[in-house]
Amino acid sequence: MVAELSPKLIAEVQRAAELLAVQSRICILTGAGVSAESGIPTFRDKQTGLWEQYRAEDLASPNAFARDPRLVWSWYQWRRQLVHDKKPNPAHHTLAQWQQDAIENKKSFTLITQNVDDLHEQAGSMTTHLHGHLWRNRCHDCGTPYPNKAETLDSNKKSINFDDSLISCQQCSGYIRPDIVWFGEALPVQAWQTAENAAASCDVFISIGTSSLVYPAAGLAQLAQQNGAKVIEINPNPTPNTIVDITLAANAGVVLPLLMQKMAALT
Ligand code: NAD
Ligand code: ZN
Repeated sequence: MVAELSPKLIAEVQRAAELLAVQSRICILTGAGVSAESGIPTFRDKQTGLWEQYRAEDLASPNAFARDPRLVWSWYQWRRQLVHDKKPNPAHHTLAQWQQDAIENKKSFTLITQNVDDLHEQAGSMTTHLHGHLWRNRCHDCGTPYPNKAETLDSNKKSINFDDSLISCQQCSGYIRPDIVWFGEALPVQAWQTAENAAASCDVFISIGTSSLVYPAAGLAQLAQQNGAKVIEINPNPTPNTIVDITLAANAGVVLPLLMQKMAALT
């Protein structure tokens, strides 16, 4: 895999490792791209099968749910079916190891994700989720949390019901929805606070597998840079982001293990 990388990219990974080795406050933001190598499609990938005719952005919204709750619920049930057996890839494992090392060495390492899957947790990371959790539900009207089937049933998520019948709230008879932040909705206050604090006080901000289009998450790199941090981007299709200091243009599952290896060689 590493053999596929160009000498120029390997040199950039080395440059990133040298920068990271001397800094002690790291803030990382991941997006759908970090889970792509686990087989979970990103929002920019075309949808498949029944859902081919829809754009994800048109389903993940309060308006879509108000218009057709069954359609939106069915789509999430389909996404849960698609995701339930997916496993962390080398990018998730490397980030978990890195966080563990940082804790042992009393360094600051904050992992923030826009993803709603739980692959970072499966790999052993403590993660701040900005956009909610695919495996949790709540009432759309009164907010009552609903025990998610994945949590109450076996940890392999084998006994989850993926059928598309709508469920009503026992408190107010509103519809149950996934506990996910949809386009146009506010981010969870606590998670956003953690993200802002970490971005504003880090030495290096690393953006991994995100198209940097969805705000406010996309603004975290700018916040970090305004406060003096260096910005690294890991994405095979680098974003037109002018604030990036080092671009590592390859898959996260290849770049991150190499970066770890190069950092280890420097200590
Ligand atoms: P996005 O779909 O907009 O962009 C994904 C980015 O990942 C692209 O820039 C792409 O070039 C890059 N990418 C693809 N493969 C990669 C790889 N192997 N390594 C590194 N980068 C790779 O995703 P986004 O920026 O996270 O924003 C869209 C929204 O989609 C988010 O709010 C998120 O909640 C939601 N989403 C989540 C999941 C998930 O939880 N796994 C999946 C799809 C969408
Ligand atoms: Zn309710």
